[in-house]
Amino acid sequence: MEIEKVAARHAVMLSVVVPCYNELDGVAELYRRVTAACLEHGSSYEIVLVIDGATDGTREAVFRLAETDDHVVAIDLARNYGHQIALSAGLEFCRGQRILILDADLQDPPELLGAMMTKMNEGFDVVYGQRLKRDGESWFKLASASMFYRLLRRMVDVEIAPNSGDFRLMSRRALDHLNAMPERYRFIRGMVSWIGLKQVAFPYERHRRFAGTTHYPLKKMILLAVDAMTSFSVAPLRFASLLGMMFGLLGLVVLGYTLFEWSVGNVLPGWTSLAAIMLILGSVQLMVLGIFGEYLGRMYMETKRRPLYFVNEIVARSQATENTEL
Ligand code: UDP
Ligand code: MG
Repeated sequence: MEIEKVAARHAVMLSVVVPCYNELDGVAELYRRVTAACLEHGSSYEIVLVIDGATDGTREAVFRLAETDDHVVAIDLARNYGHQIALSAGLEFCRGQRILILDADLQDPPELLGAMMTKMNEGFDVVYGQRLKRDGESWFKLASASMFYRLLRRMVDVEIAPNSGDFRLMSRRALDHLNAMPERYRFIRGMVSWIGLKQVAFPYERHRRFAGTTHYPLKKMILLAVDAMTSFSVAPLRFASLLGMMFGLLGLVVLGYTLFEWSVGNVLPGWTSLAAIMLILGSVQLMVLGIFGEYLGRMYMETKRRPLYFVNEIVARSQATENTEL
């Protein structure tokens, strides 16, 4: 079933979009708690569960939910595309007037939906969760996250709130704007800030994972950080000129010092310092080339204009009864 074919589905009042990787142990609890939270706001809701190439039976578990409950839509992606792309797939697919983004591990409590809706009623387009306290996360994750946000804030013009994840409630018009951004290196919380409109922080306490362990090891965190910086700023490219200037000045100082020593009769034996300077300069040049490469590579990947993801299968009972083509 193609995404376009279901574009004509009925709109609902609320969509909850959840990317799920290997979350078998948490899916039933997720379904139970999200359903309870949604039902408080009437029955016009859908839970869009995006299966991001799971290998542990999450797919089957989610399909079973979609086969028994009209409110559940299961989108099985063709492989593991990563959190941000899986989320984008769900966001493109969902039809709610309001959209709640949630993680499958229940670190962000779905029970906050009511309070977030009330906040949105005050006239906001985005109510984004801001973590006050983060249970069960290592000091390293907390320290690196805090350093990352500080660095990002200095480099980027748009305000990206520190300690915010993707947990947020969005209005349909904010989501339409987000969906209109076609880039493939997606740092969604930053893209949402970039949109503008009225946005407000919603402080909450982040819990431990309900089950399993994080799917964001150090490597993926660094990649997300690099995506964030390169998508929102060209400051690293300017860094090259800055470094060039710094080393130029350093060279002048060293030259002055050498000439001075020479004028008072000291000839400085120079090969060690020369070797050191050459090594430093060489490494700086390679580093700058690397930064260039990072942007160039991203430009290359963007110019291919490949679709962000492919869908393997969509299971949705309500769609099947309303539209036999599906
Ligand atoms: N996730 C995903 N694809 C991936 C990795 C993660 O869809 O390749 C989902 C995962 O199932 C969860 C969310 O993204 O719902 C956040 O992942 P996780 O909880 O591991 O990250 P953390 O909360 O530790 O930053
Ligand atoms: Mg998590």
